[in-house]
Amino acid sequence: MALQPLNPINLSGKTALVTGASRGIGAATARRLHLAGANVVLAARTQWEIQNIADELEVRALAVNCDVSQWRSVSQACELATEQFGAIDILVNNAGIIEPIARIDEAEPDTWDHAVKVNLTGVFHCVRAVLPAMKRSGSGLIINISSGAATRPLEGWSHYCASKAGVLALTQCIHHEEASNGLRCVGLSPGSVATDIQKVIKASGLNPMSERDWSEHIPPAWAAEAVAWLTTEKARRFDGSDLSLTNNAGRDAVGLPRINAA
Ligand code: NAP
Repeated sequence: MALQPLNPINLSGKTALVTGASRGIGAATARRLHLAGANVVLAARTQWEIQNIADELEVRALAVNCDVSQWRSVSQACELATEQFGAIDILVNNAGIIEPIARIDEAEPDTWDHAVKVNLTGVFHCVRAVLPAMKRSGSGLIINISSGAATRPLEGWSHYCASKAGVLALTQCIHHEEASNGLRCVGLSPGSVATDIQKVIKASGLNPMSERDWSEHIPPAWAAEAVAWLTTEKARRFDGSDLSLTNNAGRDAVGLPRINAA
């Protein structure tokens, strides 16, 4: 669902690297930040999908193949982005997976570990790659896509809950270590969003999240608007924590439609 931009945001001259930009929230975020005037670097594994989006944007867009679970892949992607645009001013750590959904007593150790490598270690890899240059320049913004699962246990989601709790802790740690150096780090907990992840959740049949009707999910463009809003000075009160779109305080801050009381 397309959404007219709600907030007047000008990111001209800034470069944003968005991981997991091939579809869902990441693709919507890359488009929104580009609309705000930013150079965008679309990072994901599916080259043809990110290249299609870069071609559609025509200018100020670069598609870079990147597997966030691999340090070398991340550092190379950041080098390419820096060569092309001079610097990475905004990092959006969005890449994430929920497969395989399984109760702990049945979870397969290798795939559990892989999910943590993508969802949590992948965030560390990207932050590690951009922080030194951000520190040298005395500014930079890191936005981590979090989840309500960071603070709420859900059956079959131990890999996802544990990794998103880790992402929230990383947001707090980065803020703790780097705010005094002029850097910002903030998280976004978008609530349930109509993307491929929700199809996997629905198919699992586990826990109340799989029972949600598709119409209950917000469009990816709303999450993207929240990311764009987080780049503004008004959002600074959320630094070091998560902005949540599952309550009206968060929705109001961004200017999104309110949640109607049942
Ligand atoms: P999605 O449509 O499935 O998109 C996931 C993205 O992550 C894709 O672009 C995928 O690209 C990328 N990705 C997966 N593994 C990767 C890897 N190893 N390296 C680089 N990129 C990788 O899901 P989404 O809903 O937009 O999810 C985006 C983020 O939002 C995730 O962090 C998710 O946990 C979070 N979130 C989603 C919801 C929701 O309800 N949808 C709610 C809360 C939080 P490739 O496959 O091309 O690599």
